[in-house]
Amino acid sequence: MRAVPRAANHADSARRRQWIFVAPDQLHAELGALRGREPKETGVVLLESREWLSRRPYHRMRIALILLNQRAFAEELRHAGLEVRVEIGDAPMSELLRRVAVDTGPLLATDWAEREMRAEFKPLVEAGLLEVRPHDGWLTLQGDFDKCRRGTQWSMDAFYRRVRQRTGLLMDKQGEPLGGRFSFDTENRKSWPGTPEAPQPPRFPLDALRKEVRQVIERDYAAHPGELDLEALPATLQDSERLWAWAKSECLPHFGPFEDAMSARSRGLFHSRMSPLMNVWRMPARRMVDDVAAMRLPIESKEGFIRQVIGWREFVRWVHLRTDGFRDAWPVAASPGLGGHDRWKGSPWKPAASAPAGVDGGARPATLGSDTPLPQAFWGKPSGLRCLDEVVASVWQEGWSHHITRLMVLGNLATLLDVDARELADWFWIAYMDAWDWVVEPNVLAMATYAAGGVMTTKPYVAGSAYIDGMSDYCGGCAFKPGKDCPITPMYWAFLARHEEKLKGNPRMKLVMGSLRRRTPEKRQVDHATFVHVRDMLVQGRRLEPSEALPFR
Ligand SMILES: Cc1cc2nc3c(=O)[nH]c(=O)nc-3n(C[C@H](O)[C@H](O)[C@H](O)COP(=O)(O)OP(=O)(O)OC[C@H]3O[C@@H](n4cnc5c(N)ncnc54)[C@H](O)[C@@H]3O)c2cc1C
Ligand code: SF4
Repeated sequence: MRAVPRAANHADSARRRQWIFVAPDQLHAELGALRGREPKETGVVLLESREWLSRRPYHRMRIALILLNQRAFAEELRHAGLEVRVEIGDAPMSELLRRVAVDTGPLLATDWAEREMRAEFKPLVEAGLLEVRPHDGWLTLQGDFDKCRRGTQWSMDAFYRRVRQRTGLLMDKQGEPLGGRFSFDTENRKSWPGTPEAPQPPRFPLDALRKEVRQVIERDYAAHPGELDLEALPATLQDSERLWAWAKSECLPHFGPFEDAMSARSRGLFHSRMSPLMNVWRMPARRMVDDVAAMRLPIESKEGFIRQVIGWREFVRWVHLRTDGFRDAWPVAASPGLGGHDRWKGSPWKPAASAPAGVDGGARPATLGSDTPLPQAFWGKPSGLRCLDEVVASVWQEGWSHHITRLMVLGNLATLLDVDARELADWFWIAYMDAWDWVVEPNVLAMATYAAGGVMTTKPYVAGSAYIDGMSDYCGGCAFKPGKDCPITPMYWAFLARHEEKLKGNPRMKLVMGSLRRRTPEKRQVDHATFVHVRDMLVQGRRLEPSEALPFR
């Protein structure tokens, strides 16, 4: 697919249509400015900016997901009778669009989900080249969010209850929640013994479009990390429907009970893998919620899934919007961060062009003062800790892993190591194909690391090896043994001890802080020495071995 050549009279014919700029994460014909348009009177502009796609050293799967879906979307719009221009170039998206506007005149746009995109396009809006229509793809209202403030904190539970009550979703005729409770979270915590069998996600044929995108990635994005498996990625609308049909029939019946389980034998277990498509709006969340609400499913699966979508997904988006990506309380990094890429690679990352004015590196919250550089283990250098190495390997293969691996392995270990949360957030943004600032930043900076303090969680999500052993099968194949020589539990106690002053007043930490106080000085010393040893080894990119003289043995 090429950019449409500019003929002398093109500008005149172009101006007879209403041109609409559709951002790479707005790929739906019934979203915002595109909704209800007459095809023959409408033109759509899509952008493939090499600057934007190489602003950070994104996983190849993320680039492939965007190129495949954007190109497939362009064909679908053409087929429906719209004129479509795809502008490809090294320049930032805003610059490519400014050039298009010379031909088309001012364009309509849909408000951006990403703060970074809003910042990039602001000068075009101010210059009258873009007229912004509301993004109508969200499922909740500002009032839902405003009413969920509890003291200094936004409460997801309160938000979720209110959305259920207001919409009537999963409510009976008497206004009571189906099944008698709003949340079946306590039923969502089973480990997975190997049965029921976990489903294999669908594969997609290596067709002409996938071959074309493979060539583009090999030519223009060869320096990007991560494996490229184009047959794992949906591209067309039919592909999205196929993945969603698979998720509904194969995953959702068992989704609830095994939602928190982790396994090396099945990376995805019963998770839907829909987030990459949802976040580029190929599959609208509204459609998914309606489908699941109408399905016959065990209540703990039905409620569990809907809670993730109308609860967590919408909630984190509001937190990001309301805190301006945590800029309301924290300093901001000057330029987009690289998540420790250059230390691992040993050479500087080179984007296709400089980032446009207005794009910064995001907020740097640090409630606990954490500043350890992200270990190279996150880039694939073996750490010797099987849980970490297993999850990291899966991320660099797939550009995705499920929620509990993100929270209780990657987030947990980074938090126990006092990793700089900004660097961790940039790493997640780079490594995951579903990452966009509105969703990755609240999940990393507030939920997984507690860097933004108790803005949306009541306590840090940290755990020792008993949790990982209980919820996964990682420990069986690990050189370390949980409860014996595994360093993660001493690191957990060391974390609590280091941050005792800041955490001791937290009512939800009362019990563990009491246990910490009863820990003997000798044990505390070993805890601290373990933390220092593991942190230093991993920061130096070295592998931990149980045979070494470790302080915790
Ligand atoms: C540290 C960390 C980083 C994360 N980064 C991202 C990210 O960059 N992009 C992203 O979409 N999700 C992110 N999440 C949330 C969650 O892990 C993913 O949405 C989920 O794993 C996607 O896989 P799935 O589609 O199979 O989800 P399922 O388990 O099938 O859940 C269904 C849907 O619920 C939504 N959802 C569930 N939990 C969350 C949540 N906490 N925040 C937002 N949506 C949620 C997603 O849209 C997901 O597709 C992150 C979570 C953590 C702890
Ligand atoms: S023994 Fe410890 S390091 Fe190894 S997999 Fe289990 S929790 Fe992870």
